[in-house]
Parts: sequence; C-alpha cells; structure tokens
Amino acid sequence: MADHPRAPIALLTSQVHRLHKNINTRLQPTSDADITSVELEAIGDELHAMATRLFPICRSVTGDGVRETLQIMQESIPLDIVEVPTGTEVFDWVVPHEWNIRDAYVKNSAGKRVIDFRQSNLHLVNGSQPVQQSLTWGELKKKIHSIQSQPERIPFITCFHKDDWGFCISQTRYEELEALGEQTYEVVIDSVIKEGSLTYGEYYLPGESSEEILFSAHICHPSLANDNLSGICIAILLANRLMQLPRRRYSYRFLFAPATIGAITWLAQNHNKLDQIKHGLVLSLLGDSGHSTYKRSRSGDAEIDQIVEHVLKTSGEPFSIRNFTPYGYDERQFCSPGINLSMGCLMRTPDSEFAEYHTSGDNLEFIEPAFLADSFNKCHRIIEIIENDYSFINLRPMGEPRLGKHGLYESLPADTDQKQFQQAVQWVLNLSDGDHSLFDIAVRSQMDFSVLLKSTCALVNCGLIAQQ
Ligand SMILES: [Zn+2]
Repeated sequence: MADHPRAPIALLTSQVHRLHKNINTRLQPTSDADITSVELEAIGDELHAMATRLFPICRSVTGDGVRETLQIMQESIPLDIVEVPTGTEVFDWVVPHEWNIRDAYVKNSAGKRVIDFRQSNLHLVNGSQPVQQSLTWGELKKKIHSIQSQPERIPFITCFHKDDWGFCISQTRYEELEALGEQTYEVVIDSVIKEGSLTYGEYYLPGESSEEILFSAHICHPSLANDNLSGICIAILLANRLMQLPRRRYSYRFLFAPATIGAITWLAQNHNKLDQIKHGLVLSLLGDSGHSTYKRSRSGDAEIDQIVEHVLKTSGEPFSIRNFTPYGYDERQFCSPGINLSMGCLMRTPDSEFAEYHTSGDNLEFIEPAFLADSFNKCHRIIEIIENDYSFINLRPMGEPRLGKHGLYESLPADTDQKQFQQAVQWVLNLSDGDHSLFDIAVRSQMDFSVLLKSTCALVNCGLIAQQ
C-alpha cells in the first residue's frame, strides 16, 4: 500500500492488524493461535490492572476523587482537566457545590468502628453532609441502607441535590447490629461541602478531517468496577492506541465526566463544537461475562448504529440490540432533542439487569480481563470501519477479471482463508461501482469488514480497483 497515492485503507490496519488477528484467531484457531492469544490476554490484563489501580478511589460527582482519577489517567493520555466553578449555569442546571470526604464511621461505646468508610467507600452514602452526633440504634438505623435480597452486599447509594446523609451496610451486618439492641453510637461523617468546581477530563486528537468521533465514559462512581471503570479503562486504551497512529482520518474526542451533570456541563460549554461531531459512543459496563449489548442512538438508523450492529453481527458471538430509551447513561444528554447527536451506548449486560449493579458485588472479580479485551476489540473494529469506509471503482468491470493474471494471490499471508478471501474479492469487485462504499459492501455481503478490507488492499495493490 505504501506506493498507492492516497493509501488510506492502511491507516488503522497497519497499526492494529495484530489485534484483529487476535480476535479472529480466538474464534477460528490458526497456526499462530498461541501468539495472538497471548497478545489478547495482555490487553485484558492491562485493562484490568488499570481498573485495579483506580478502584479504591472514592469518586463522586465532584471533588478530589475525580481529580485523582483523571491525574492517574494522564499517565496514559495527555488529558485536559477542566474545572467548572460551582454556580455556573449549564442549560437548565447549575454546577453544584464540591463534595469531599476525609473519613466516616459509626463507633460503638467501646470505641470500635462498627461501620467504617475506610473499609469500603460504599459504606457512606455518596454526597452525605457532615455529621457528628450520638445516636441510639433506633435513630441510627433509619439512616442505614442494606439489600435484603442480597444479604452479603453493600448497596451504592447517593444523596446529591438534597441535604441528607446515611450509611450502607450488608443485610447480614445490619442484623448483627440489630441483635445488639438499643445501644448508643458515635456517628461521624467528616465531609466538606463548599464552593469549588466540577471536574471533567477531555482529550482531543486531531485528524485529517475536523469531523469528530466522540467517546464518553462517566467517572463519578466510587469503588464500582463494571459501572464506570470498565468504560473509563477501555476509553483510555483506545485513546492511547489512536494517539500513536501517524495519521487519522477523523478527529477523536474522549470525554470523562461525571454522569448527567458532567455531560450537561460539557455540552453547555461546548455547544459551538457540536456540529463537528459526526457520531460517537457512550462506553459503560464492558467487563462482565454477559454478551455485548448495543443501545441505538435516538434516530435508530444513524451510521454509528449500522456500524456497531455490523461489528456485533459478524463477531460470531451472541449479542443484543436495543432501541433508544431516554434512560440509562449519558446518551440521555447527547440524544436530548436540542442536542440530538448520533450517539449510541455500547455495553455488555445493561444497567439494572445484573444483581451486582450498584452494589459491592460490582468489584474487580466481577470484571474479567477476557471480557474487557473482547469489548476493547469490538470498539477497535468499530473504529476500523469508521476510518476505512472509502469507495472504490472496479477498473476491469466488463465481466469478472482473471484474478491470477493480475498477481492477486502473490502477496497473501500464508494463513489467509482462501475461500473467504475469494468471496470478499468478488463482493468488492462487484459492488465497487461508484455507488457503494466498503461498509455498504460489508452490510450487503454480511462479511466481516476486516476480511473485505484485506481483499480491498490486495485488489488496490494489483491495480484492479482504485479509490474513488
Ligand atoms: Zn451507575
């Protein structure tokens, strides 16, 4: 491809070819299965290690937990950290006071912590106002949350936008305390709520076109792994890989903001940039063992919807597609009527549909390297289509050309599936008529885009097709 005047289709494949071979190899073992499996494992391990490092931080809608998370992410990508002051009006909302937490506990009369924020940041209702008082068990238990149906798990509860506080414990722990009867406890929540700012991170990667692809992940949950960290870590690694490409067809923007108010703040402050956004994805819940789920954009038939659906359909694995609904993650904001971006949401098991959701069960054991790596690879395949969807013209359109005569098979890698390659060549030759792009051909043929791309490269190299 190097001597092709525009050589656009090598853009991502030259860089990520090994990744794609990984997944193909995993599904259809070939001679170099060991090497590619190791590579895929390394990606999963890298993603899980990132999540492990970020897991203990007590993130919230605002405050130092978000800042610390973004600062660690800056080690991988040169993220801009943006502070928007408390009181700033953002559409129909106002940036809230900043919340920070130093410590929180409930002590018994012997001075022992019976509920301790230091053991799990989920023990404190996120956003709790400061408290220092003695309470009887009868008074205290009104402020305690547990889950009867999951007696060993601590629930994740928030109390933003209202002056309140509370603790979260397992039902088992609740019953132990209940059995101790009417004792008096010292309750301390050493939180600070003051004028400050809302913090978000943004990384813009310019490409040849000013049209942007937006990836967004929420960054406001404390120690929850699938819900927030899986999307954050995959977005970091995608940005890191894209950053290393010598050129990109499109520009990319990665947004890491607290859910709802963070996305609304970003949209309000960047309203003039929105018409640059071609389409994008909200990334969340990407590390559990469930199959991939795609929630379509508001229009339901945007280019991004078709691309993601094609990637899932040709993955050879189970998947589900859902229509847009005005609840879920920040697609609610990106797809609000006045914004109406072509943004879908890629996840595995959707929110509220797994028992671990918003509990201490959503931990580092719940997300697994293999599922993180699989989700990452699907994102990568989506980007491969976005970057390589060009149109070509068949230069020998009168009947089928004699392929061997043009040296089509001479430079093929030894592990090429000849039958699949041949079919892809025939599809590309037939539909490279000026009316169909490579992605149109992928949809029509229901063939893996990567295979069509490989055939297209070979056809360009031997002069049978040319980019339109
Ligand atoms: Zn959540």
